[in-house]
Amino acid sequence: MATASIVRCTKCAKNAGTVACEGCSAKFCPRCFNNHRQHLSKELDNIVYEHDILKQELEKPSEDETHPLLRQIDNWRKESIDKINQLADRCHTDVVKLIGDNKNQLADAFRKLTNTIRDGRSEEDYDERHLNMWITQLKELKDNLIKLSNVHVEVDKQQPSWIQKIIVRKDSHQQKEVKDSKL
Ligand SMILES: [Zn+2]
Ligand SMILES: [Zn+2]
Repeated sequence: MATASIVRCTKCAKNAGTVACEGCSAKFCPRCFNNHRQHLSKELDNIVYEHDILKQELEKPSEDETHPLLRQIDNWRKESIDKINQLADRCHTDVVKLIGDNKNQLADAFRKLTNTIRDGRSEEDYDERHLNMWITQLKELKDNLIKLSNVHVEVDKQQPSWIQKIIVRKDSHQQKEVKDSKL
């Protein structure tokens, strides 16, 4: 014998589900249906709240300079400049040190030359060959003092991506428009 199956309320599973919600297709007893409506009403309140917040954002006078994208560019600028400054400072320090080292070396050579010339003069022990040699040595010392011929500053081509370029790119597929669809 077939038993008449009563549809129970989805919520309480006790009372008969006599009222159907079209939105979720659940069947409720009248009391649970009221609760269900209240719940939906609260959710709507939340949506209205979010909506109002967004409305305020849109109506605020635009502070373009604080936009995250602009801050991102500014950060890139700052970080890149910092990198350049740090490296330039380091190379500067290195070259200053090398110039100092070079000067010390030249000073040694210069002292030796001074003594040689002084001895040659006091003992009248020189001729044109000595004079030419000393002129050449003096010129070499002077050149080396300025040129630092064994040190070079050059571009490091091994490291092309040290500062990476940034670009502004817009995605080709447009943001989906908000449809004002009616159910
Ligand atoms: Zn119920
Ligand atoms: Zn429902």
